[in-house]
Amino acid sequence: MELFPLFLKLEGRQCLVIGAGRVAESKIESLVRCGARVRVVAPEATEAVRTMAEVGSINWEHRAYKPGDLNGMFLVVASTSSPELHAKIFEQARRAGVLCNSVDEPERCDFYYPAVVRRGPLQIAVSTGGLFPGLAQRLRQQMELLFGPGYGAWVEEIGRARKELLASDLDISERNARLQEISSERSLAEFERSRRAAGSPETSPGQPGKVYFVGAGSGDPELLTRKAWRILSEAEVVLHDALVAPELLLVPPPSALILDVGKRCGQKSAAQAEIHAVMIEQARSRRSVVRLQGGDPLIFGRAGEEFEALRESGIEFEVVPGVTAASAAAAAAQITLTDRRRASRLIFLSAHRHGGQFDAGWQSLPAWDTTLAIYMPGRDYERIAQELCAAGLAPETPCVIVSQASTPEQRIVRADLAYLAEIGEMPAPAILLVGEVTREEVLEVSRAYSAGIWLADQTDADS
Ligand code: SAH
Repeated sequence: MELFPLFLKLEGRQCLVIGAGRVAESKIESLVRCGARVRVVAPEATEAVRTMAEVGSINWEHRAYKPGDLNGMFLVVASTSSPELHAKIFEQARRAGVLCNSVDEPERCDFYYPAVVRRGPLQIAVSTGGLFPGLAQRLRQQMELLFGPGYGAWVEEIGRARKELLASDLDISERNARLQEISSERSLAEFERSRRAAGSPETSPGQPGKVYFVGAGSGDPELLTRKAWRILSEAEVVLHDALVAPELLLVPPPSALILDVGKRCGQKSAAQAEIHAVMIEQARSRRSVVRLQGGDPLIFGRAGEEFEALRESGIEFEVVPGVTAASAAAAAAQITLTDRRRASRLIFLSAHRHGGQFDAGWQSLPAWDTTLAIYMPGRDYERIAQELCAAGLAPETPCVIVSQASTPEQRIVRADLAYLAEIGEMPAPAILLVGEVTREEVLEVSRAYSAGIWLADQTDADS
């Protein structure tokens, strides 16, 4: 039968706890915290229970349970080591109309203690109906992360504001709009911001807004960090690039100004100077500006130039890192980027060309125990393979190309360097990982390996 969830006011109510061991101790504490008048019946008690009795927060009777103990009680908790005694207490409590909880015996409980997240007046309680208390605890821990300590003071504050609003003579629709506004994510963010500002002497009211460089992760929108999600959900202006998952653009409030400043192959994109101008202008109008970039904002983006422009304008900024394409691709292909047996170095490099030339530095590339994560490999794999071989890599060096990593369209193709050119065109964005770490699976499918190329199409593999 379904349980009826409720939050009880126990202040001034008589509650009985039978047993005073370690488990009972926590039950007693939670009753005391709610203002119950707690009577404990037990021959022995833990140190903490004895102290509570000494300071008068509970009444402890050093003896065994007897039936008359239930008289006048609102609820009873049985926490002894005797199931027979619990059976007796449960039965007597039932007859006397007293609510009973026998610890660890769901069949002898009228109510359960849920796992609780406490944030001042905000309480979130979880129950598995007595089936799996450990699961309830785990969910509680997850919710503790989701609902940080800041919630307590905020809920108190908006509770007061709500009371004032209800007493005001605003018309109903305006009042409802205000109520919605004061309980929004944005209101929580503003509250936390103003508390932080109150605690830090350098910041003063009337300052310009701030720019957040936020990593959107590569591909899967779920790769966004919680911090990134929070900042994005409060954004007033979002400048995003082409690699950002479209779902993420639904996170900012509907009132946010969303600008696509991305660069796509063959298409015109916003000029860098224009991006700087918009960021600065919006931040000066005291807005919270999010510069949302695929992967990590500090890898192969223009963050360096943007930092400079902001510093020159005296605008504050913060960086929220993201999951870069190399990590998403390695995860997709189930390879490691370093491995103490195969690669002690990892180099992130870009194959992007300036005037038909690869970026400088390829000649100084690397020994066999290095993994290369080559961003923006373009379409000319043959050229890349030639350059890498010219830089001293063996033609047998294994490679993986991951296209659209961590999206439903993800494709993974493995080949050794000599056969790289034979891979057809892979849809952008794609990343090339080169080095011994990519070898393992190629060896596993040795037949395919002898043909030089092994095509692992995720969608085919699943069906
Ligand atoms: N800041 C980004 C990189 C921007 S450069 C990051 O940290 O990932 C753009 C290049 O990133 C693309 O040309 C491609 O090489 C790589 N890339 C981005 N998203 C990718 C994805 N989902 N799958 C494969 N490669 C990706």
